[in-house]
Amino acid sequence: MNEGVLANMREFDHEQVVFCQSKEAGLKAIVAIHDTSLGPALGGTRMWAYTSEKEALRDVLRLSRGMTYKAAAAGLPLGGGKAVIIGDPKKDKSQALFRAYGRFINSLDGRYITAEDVGTNVFDMECALLETDYVVGTDPSHGGSGDPSPYTALGTFYGIKACLKKVFGDESFKGRTFAVQGIGAVGAHLVRHLVKNGAKVVACDIDQDKTNALKEEVQFETVPADDIYKVKCDVFAPCALGAVINDRTIEFLNCRIIAGAANNQLERNDHADIIKKRGICYAPDYVINAGGLMNVFLELEGYSRVRCERMVQSIYYNVSKVLKIADEMGVTTARAADVMVEEHLQKVRQSNRMFTMHPKNVLRNVHRRR
Ligand code: NAD
Repeated sequence: MNEGVLANMREFDHEQVVFCQSKEAGLKAIVAIHDTSLGPALGGTRMWAYTSEKEALRDVLRLSRGMTYKAAAAGLPLGGGKAVIIGDPKKDKSQALFRAYGRFINSLDGRYITAEDVGTNVFDMECALLETDYVVGTDPSHGGSGDPSPYTALGTFYGIKACLKKVFGDESFKGRTFAVQGIGAVGAHLVRHLVKNGAKVVACDIDQDKTNALKEEVQFETVPADDIYKVKCDVFAPCALGAVINDRTIEFLNCRIIAGAANNQLERNDHADIIKKRGICYAPDYVINAGGLMNVFLELEGYSRVRCERMVQSIYYNVSKVLKIADEMGVTTARAADVMVEEHLQKVRQSNRMFTMHPKNVLRNVHRRR
């Protein structure tokens, strides 16, 4: 981490970082807008008991950049942004805090649109919504699209299908074995899709209640959490935490494909090289897990479940494209995804050089002149 905010912003080319403070409301927040070449920056608000401002800044810069890549890979007209609230989500929340936060979001005039993330929930976002329209992913009773997890799972399912086609020449799930790590909001939906489509599933979760509840609905085997890496399977689907492909676990992997919903699955970039050398096909996390983002994006355009389901299917195409680029360039799939995104961003930035007066801007200028 560099000294100074601007030096850190320059490292990954962030556009804007906003520090927000309200003593009365107990708010300390940082909003990072990484890139708005494609559209307004969208990304969730994380609340975490960071031990220092430096740690919070590092997290928000890393996460906001990730959102630029996820939106671009999904073909959405959105930029990348993220916000962090420094505080303990179990102790420091209040309606006043999220209302104050909402006012700061509003002051950005739509350059950043927020949603829930780790440590925040729909209720928190509805408090922010009292002060700003730039919130998505709220409850359907407030005009939102609700829980995005089913769409993240559905998109992951389509992405796995693309990997099966590439590796086995056949995209059928029937008779294939899947090892699913984590059966929370996304993992449980994924297990349902897999079992429904004839797959054999071995899953694990550190929360026994979740395992028991899902077992009442669908048939699958379970293993202790640490044994999931060793399961001989066609597809390993990480749906729990990040950095699960690391120096400790990589040698145990006994699969042909790694394709799951968890964010930041590779601990380091060179783990992608090791996976490639071992002949394992990896679906880059930010390409395969974009279904939830597509779901909230559609709120901005007029939400419909049918439209969302159709859009999420495009993840099959997006993952296939990345696998093809990796083959053509002889690089890892992780690198291929980055190349695909960076080329897309570059092309759109070049087209932005042509000035047009959008009708919305004309109207805004008319109002300002009055
Ligand atoms: P969740 O908290 O509902 O589920 C995660 C599950 O993993 C929990 O049941 C937890 O008990 C379990 N778990 C934690 N550590 C484990 C371990 N070591 N071994 C086995 N199980 C373990 O979260 P979620 O919303 O289902 O998200 C899962 C992953 O997908 C996260 O990495 C998240 O960032 C990512 N993701 C989620 C969405 C979404 O729409 N929810 C969108 C994009 C990415």
